[in-house]
Amino acid sequence: MALKITDQCINCDVCEPECPNDVIDWRRCTECVGHFDKPQCVEVCPVDCIPLDPDHAETREQLQAKYEGLQREAAAKA
Ligand code: SF4
Ligand code: SF4
Repeated sequence: MALKITDQCINCDVCEPECPNDVIDWRRCTECVGHFDKPQCVEVCPVDCIPLDPDHAETREQLQAKYEGLQREAAAKA
């Protein structure tokens, strides 16, 4: 399941550099699968405003496939 930022966000910008996919966006969020054990953005957010997004439910296998797709995309751009 992807994560989303709620309107409690204070725009501190500490989460974005931590994201291995460069952006907190459900299209690219893998819950950090493939990179880290825990969602890094959630770990650093000072106001705890990055819940799972129930509108974008994904299984661990789907997240892994998404990660692999993003890796291929990155490799193609390199
Ligand atoms: S969980 Fe990981 S991949 Fe998803 S937005 Fe947060 S830091 Fe990025
Ligand atoms: S870390 Fe949390 S409060 Fe800061 S920009 Fe990211 S979502 Fe917003």
